[in-house]
Amino acid sequence: MGIMGGTFDPIHLGHLVIAEEVRIQFKLDKVVFVPTGNPPHKVTGHVTDPEHRYLMTVLATINNPYFTVSRVETDRVQALTYTIDTIRFFNNYYDGKANLYFITGADAILDILTWKDYKELLSICHFIAATRPGYSLEKLKDTISAASPDALRNIQVLEIPGMQISSTLIRSRVSAGKPIKYLTPDSVTEYISKNSLYRNEQERV
Ligand code: ATP
Ligand code: MG
Repeated sequence: MGIMGGTFDPIHLGHLVIAEEVRIQFKLDKVVFVPTGNPPHKVTGHVTDPEHRYLMTVLATINNPYFTVSRVETDRVQALTYTIDTIRFFNNYYDGKANLYFITGADAILDILTWKDYKELLSICHFIAATRPGYSLEKLKDTISAASPDALRNIQVLEIPGMQISSTLIRSRVSAGKPIKYLTPDSVTEYISKNSLYRNEQERV
């Protein structure tokens, strides 16, 4: 099974495309989306309420029978949540029998060597790094292999059609009153508008 972690603030078509592409290429039975609770990398900035991010992820994935959403990090919102805790959770849940594939973009995988207990992470889970516009694959490979040649063996790189979409772009467009149609599913666009999310992005640090 695939695990697609992210802040999803909000979820967008870039996330959905890489999850579906990995699912097909690696013949995964399903992909579980795991919206973060309080992400350790983003503690200094403001992140939208985990319930909003969880619900937008459910709305965005509702029409794909292979996609589900987990509340494991949403419900652990009091404490900082680390990817290793989530991977351990799924590993234990399936008694160590599930073949776990953690799906990330090229930028997120570059952080991997700074993650808590990354060696254990790499030993219990495969990593798939999807290409992302603006992040060089060569730099990615060089950085990882320089830090740890073992790490590179557990990370597979997948070329996907470039999607120059980010949650940051969506937040700033909403804040500027610009449309976000075709960047995220319509249901998410409607949820954002109904709940007046991202209206005052300039206040975000
Ligand atoms: P933000 O701009 O707030 O950082 P984001 O668009 O990067 O948001 P995240 O929730 O931070 O979204 O990312 C979750 C995962 O999805 C990360 O592994 C990230 O690398 C990957 N990802 C997001 N957008 C893309 C994209 N357009 N192409 C490839 N990977 C992506
Ligand atoms: Mg990001």
